[in-house]
Amino acid sequence: MAGYKRVTRDVRQIVNERATVRRHDSMITDKKREVDAKRTKVKIMTLTLLELMPELGITREDIESKMKEIEKRGWAINPPSYYRLCPKCGRKVFDYTEKAFEATCMYCGQIVPMYPGDAIE
Ligand SMILES: [Zn+2]
Repeated sequence: MAGYKRVTRDVRQIVNERATVRRHDSMITDKKREVDAKRTKVKIMTLTLLELMPELGITREDIESKMKEIEKRGWAINPPSYYRLCPKCGRKVFDYTEKAFEATCMYCGQIVPMYPGDAIE
């Protein structure tokens, strides 16, 4: 009888844990959708600004210079969201580095600028 109670308690615990896992999975999915939506909005705003600025007389050099200036304020980049092709060896270079607008090719060591307008997705 004691064995039956223990098994019943274990089964109930497993059922509860599975429900908790499903709830957490659902929360993670909701959060991922929210982050994806925000990311898309930021991407659209960034591309809009990058395309408008040259029309308003702001050159690419102005933009890159300003981005470098802002980068020096100590921004950190989180998981890689885009890549460029290495100009030296042609392989994909992901934005894994702490530097906001620069990455290093893991194959040949080439320093690759990673400006948002150049992203390939
Ligand atoms: Zn390379």
